[in-house]
Amino acid sequence: MDMLKLADEIIGGRRITREDNLHVFLDCDLKELCDGADKIRKDLIGDEVDLCSIINGRSGRCPEDCKYCAQSAHNHTDCEVYDFLPEETILAACKMNEAEGVHRFSIVTSGRTLSGEEFEQAIHAYETMKKECQIDLCASMGFLNAEQLHRLHQAGVTSYHHNIETSRRFFPYICTTHTFEQKMATLKLVKAEGMCACSGGIIGMGETWEDRLDMAVCLAEAGVDSIPINALMPIKGTPLEGMEPLTEDDILRTIAFFRYINPEANIRLAAGRALLTNDGERAFCAGASATITGNMLTTAACATIRSDKEMLRALGRKI
Ligand code: SF4
Repeated sequence: MDMLKLADEIIGGRRITREDNLHVFLDCDLKELCDGADKIRKDLIGDEVDLCSIINGRSGRCPEDCKYCAQSAHNHTDCEVYDFLPEETILAACKMNEAEGVHRFSIVTSGRTLSGEEFEQAIHAYETMKKECQIDLCASMGFLNAEQLHRLHQAGVTSYHHNIETSRRFFPYICTTHTFEQKMATLKLVKAEGMCACSGGIIGMGETWEDRLDMAVCLAEAGVDSIPINALMPIKGTPLEGMEPLTEDDILRTIAFFRYINPEANIRLAAGRALLTNDGERAFCAGASATITGNMLTTAACATIRSDKEMLRALGRKI
């Protein structure tokens, strides 16, 4: 199949569904696939790159058994362990990111869900950030219910993040303490609340190419607005510590077909950018339109944000 012609059809309104022959994305020439993905991105999203940044608001001791995660109590890693951070720490990080020109800022917390006093602390932190900052606010706090999502929305959160991680078929191989269906149900609540839904996953955990295609289609069916794609960086002490890192070509092919299948979503680079040339330069020419930037509350985070902006400007993208 001519991928540039397919790209034009998608720009013209065609949408890929699971009834289509999805194998074309695996069999076609990579360069042609990426050129088509870039064309779709340019036409339907534009040159603007959406930059987001996160703070780990509560770390470690998670009862869930996600096999890739440093924060699961089932795994044996040396990850930091702390309760919900003081509001001053969160606010300082938010202001630093805003001053660096980042568009969105999110509190991310470990655990199945955030509840009780810690949830109230989160609501208060968002109310303060809304009052004192202009940056868009996002949240990632596990399996919240409709009422909690509504309260976050009212406190100023416009986008809720909840990864489906992988395909429906492969999910039980990477987590047994919750299900793919529970993830999809949370995304439905997010959409029903009228917030943007941010959901993607991790590639390179041992899934097949068909699993990656299925994940892309599930996200399209759920109407997800932003799709973070992580390439697994195996962590010592997790069951996936021995996985071979993906090649750059495999990551690019995945990013590109996510763009064809989710043409109007932000395809967002997340963990694993270190596996890509110059932190993802080629991925931004293969359909990516957004990225997580910065990584901690130090000047190193500013340096990462600045080098990302420099790289994107050199590619002719708008920040
Ligand atoms: S629920 Fe989140 S924090 Fe807990 S193990 Fe899974 S990915 Fe890690």
